Amino acid sequence: MRLGGLEMGGTKMVCAIGDEKGEVLDRYVIETLESEKTLHEIAEYFSDKKIDALGIGSFGPIELNRESDRYGYITSTPKPGWANTDVVGHFRFLNVPIGFDTDVNAACLGEVTVGAGKGFRNVIYGTVGTGIGFGVYLEGNLLHGLMHPETGHMLVNRQKEDKDFSGTCPYHDNCLESFASGPAIRKRWGRKPQELYDKKEVWELEARYLGEAMANCIMCYSPERIILGGGVMHVPGLIELVRQETLKALGGYIQKDEITKKMDEYIVLPELSDDAGIIGAMELGKLEMENELS
Ligand code: ZN
Repeated sequence: MRLGGLEMGGTKMVCAIGDEKGEVLDRYVIETLESEKTLHEIAEYFSDKKIDALGIGSFGPIELNRESDRYGYITSTPKPGWANTDVVGHFRFLNVPIGFDTDVNAACLGEVTVGAGKGFRNVIYGTVGTGIGFGVYLEGNLLHGLMHPETGHMLVNRQKEDKDFSGTCPYHDNCLESFASGPAIRKRWGRKPQELYDKKEVWELEARYLGEAMANCIMCYSPERIILGGGVMHVPGLIELVRQETLKALGGYIQKDEITKKMDEYIVLPELSDDAGIIGAMELGKLEMENELS
C-alpha cells in the first residue's frame, strides 16, 4: 500500500510517501507561502506518486463535520491568505480517499500507531510549543465531537508569580496556552525558552501549569497514557517536574498503580519526534480508505 501524507504547518509543509507500517519512503518539504501557490505545488508532488490514499493533518481551525458543505476547509485562521481555504477539494483530482484532521490529532495518531502510544486504546498527546494542543484518542478513535477538543485552552489557576502577568491568549485571561506556551515563557521572562534552561524557577512554574493540566486531562478523559511533546518539552528534566506536579495536583484522589507507582511510564515523551505528524497523516489516509471500503 502506498500512502501519501501531508503535514500542513504555519511555516512549512511536509509531504511524504510511505507504507502502512509507518515507513517513510520519500519526503518533500516546502515553505508555507500563499495558499493557492502552496497547494498547487503540493498537488504536483503527489500527482505522479501513484498513492492509494492521502491523509492530511492541518493547522486550524478546520471544518471536520462531514455534513457541512465546508468539510475539509481551513476556516477562520488569522494566517494571511489561508482563511476559508478548501484543502481537501484541492486534492480530489487524485481520485483517492482523503483523510483530514488537525495537525495535533495526526501527530497523536502517529504516536498511537507506531510510537509511544502503541498498544493503548486511550491516549492523550499534547504538544507544548508555539501553541498548546492536545489530540485525544479514546476507545480506539480520535475524539472530535462538536468540532475537536481545544484542551490547550483549558482554564487553569493563575499562579502567584503571575499575578501581574497578562499571558498570551487573546481569548482567555487564564488558560493553559496563555501561561505555558513558548511565547508565554518568552513574554514572562523576556528570553526564549532555550536561553532559560538553567533557570530553575522558570521550569518549576511551567511544570505547575502543565501538572494541573495533566491532572485535568486524567480526570476528564481517563487516559491510559499521556504523551507530551513539542519544543518546550525538550527542556532537560521538565518531564520529571511535570510528573511530580501532576501527582500533587491530583492530591492522591486517583488510586491507580499506573499513576501512583509507574508515573515514569504514564506521562512520557514522544518516540517519533518530528515524524509523528507525517506518519499520523499517512495513517489518516489509510483509515479513510478502510472507512470507504466498509
Ligand atoms: Zn486561551
